[in-house]
Amino acid sequence: MIRVGVNGYGTIGKRVADAVAAQPDMELVGVTKTKPNYEAESAIRRGYDLYAAIADRAEEFDDAGVPIAGTLSDLLESVDVAVDCTPSGIGARNRSVYAAHDTPAIFQGGEDADVADASFNARTSFEAARGADTLRVVSCNTTGLARLLAPLEAAYGVEKARVTLVRRGGDPSETGRGPINDVVPDPTTVPSHHGPDVNTVLPGVDVDTAALKAPVTAMHTHSVNVTLRETPTTETVRELLDAEPRIFTIPEAAGIDGAGKLKEYAMDCGRPRGDLWENCVWEESINVSGRDLYLFENVHQEADVVPENVDAIRALTTDLSATESVERTNEALGVGLESLLASDEGDARDPITADD
Ligand code: NAD
Repeated sequence: MIRVGVNGYGTIGKRVADAVAAQPDMELVGVTKTKPNYEAESAIRRGYDLYAAIADRAEEFDDAGVPIAGTLSDLLESVDVAVDCTPSGIGARNRSVYAAHDTPAIFQGGEDADVADASFNARTSFEAARGADTLRVVSCNTTGLARLLAPLEAAYGVEKARVTLVRRGGDPSETGRGPINDVVPDPTTVPSHHGPDVNTVLPGVDVDTAALKAPVTAMHTHSVNVTLRETPTTETVRELLDAEPRIFTIPEAAGIDGAGKLKEYAMDCGRPRGDLWENCVWEESINVSGRDLYLFENVHQEADVVPENVDAIRALTTDLSATESVERTNEALGVGLESLLASDEGDARDPITADD
């Protein structure tokens, strides 16, 4: 069993903890919190051992009636790998702590690429992670783009990808984030940093990105244009993407018109926390015109990096192949959403007149 500790039990950390606990070859040794709040209490309810992230605050947990099993140091002494899910910038500060305990560590996409020996995406860079002591699982947007561009590059070659990222303003629990009444270029400079970040896990693919923030919390939306080196049909691209286990192609018949219904569908299907681990691509948006491919996809920012973290753990600690790890992760979690509704077999719909 691979013994895993999760440092930082917030949006990503709680999901990684659940995903680790669900793996047949992993043991979740414990999770850390900085203070005994509702998340600390719910970790205990889920049966997870809780550790104080900051040793000086250990007493606060006792005082609040929230039992702890020890401090971060104790956790790091008991695990084969630590998954750092602390806020952006804190991970870099924790690097020396993991090194002092000689504990291999996985960081998240809020950190700069140089926080770790290599950046990680299971679809594109599993083998590059071999021999590393530390990995960085790239961000939710970068993960989504890598999963999409990798099969297109392999099948047809990508001459140039241009993607507009409409990013959620904050996660549902982030009451202080915004905007609340605007759509804001963020960053205002174009291209954004997301394209170069894709190249940390998918080198050599020419991708330019521009990003905005919108007053929504459910998901990011990507408007994608890829100029391919070949001229596949719309149908073959649909089949290509449909065959990717971490891409869900949404059939037109599903009547899912946005993130609201996507999340509702995930909850109706029994997904924990309504999580969508897959990229969600609207099937009827997939359209090839000459060598230009167009599509819309949504990425659930709270969830898509979660199976990637599980695979990163195996890349750091085992000899398992990427295929074996991804299959194991997908089976244990139930990744690979497929609609029972029939797909649209024909070409993309006729263009309609714009009304705004
Ligand atoms: P979060 O704020 O929801 O959770 C972070 C948790 O870490 C909180 O519980 C916080 O109390 C705790 N924490 C703070 N300081 C700590 C410390 N010193 N030691 C231990 N724990 C500490 O943040 P998040 O959204 O889960 O983001 C975590 C990382 O994942 C960031 O790098 C972020 O960029 C990345 N990420 C976030 C998302 C997303 O949309 N939320 C998506 C992909 C990647």
